[in-house]
Amino acid sequence: MKRGLGIAVSCTSYTIAVVTLLTLNILVYSIIFIEGSRPPLTIHYLAVGQADATFIETATGNRMLIDVGGGRSTADTVAGLLPFYDQRIDVVLVTHPHSDHMDGLVALLEYVDVGLVLDSGSGHTTGVVKDYLIALEENNVDKIYARRGMIVNLSREVKVYILFPDRNTRALDPDNASVWAKVKHGGNSFLFTGDAFVAIEEYMVDMDGERLRSDVFQAGHHGSRTSNSFDLLNSVMPEYVVVSAGVNNRYGHPHSEALEAFEYVGAEVLETPNDGNIVFISNEHGIERIK
Ligand SMILES: [Zn+2]
Repeated sequence: MKRGLGIAVSCTSYTIAVVTLLTLNILVYSIIFIEGSRPPLTIHYLAVGQADATFIETATGNRMLIDVGGGRSTADTVAGLLPFYDQRIDVVLVTHPHSDHMDGLVALLEYVDVGLVLDSGSGHTTGVVKDYLIALEENNVDKIYARRGMIVNLSREVKVYILFPDRNTRALDPDNASVWAKVKHGGNSFLFTGDAFVAIEEYMVDMDGERLRSDVFQAGHHGSRTSNSFDLLNSVMPEYVVVSAGVNNRYGHPHSEALEAFEYVGAEVLETPNDGNIVFISNEHGIERIK
């Protein structure tokens, strides 16, 4: 009887071992499949209300965020996009120190490892900025100023070019000190200009002109009339414009003047309040909107 019981116990152990190994096997193959099937570049314009947050991932699994506005719910959304076994973001770019572009970062640092933060170096000091600086220090995250000429090598094929600021930003309004970044994969590109006003847009058009050309343009300042000049749109000539704004937001974003500029260049306008998260992939054939 004792022996029978022994056999029964060992059978149960054997079954558990087999099931565990099979489960692990499926898990490992799933991870290999996911890791092996990513396109060269995926960009998620997250629907985070009246704020900005864009998640970028390469085929090699390197990841970047451009802005992390929208508070803790954005941090939760970003963590949800990461596999449970690899809660890591390599680079976070904070275009400028206003809460709608950075107030999710402190919460994100509670459960996601961040490798490096780039910011504009604006001298703006508010409670949100102080919390941000403390959280970076407590989590030993290095922070450097983003400056024109820098290139973030996200992968061998995907590079992020910093176009602005080209100067010390202390004397600039924080919006105007916004970091401009162009994400490039082969001939495909995505432009980010933060909340910079028309004066900076004109300066950049004078300096870079057609080099600003991009397939996708994230509308400046959530689609405000204070940005998105015809001159800029004429240089960028985007196929798509993504407006990141809140549903029925109190600013009336996107403004009709901005929408006219987008229409003028024949761009298709996508808005997070209507479309939710907007996702593009980039491969050797061009860009494709997958969501
Ligand atoms: Zn903003």
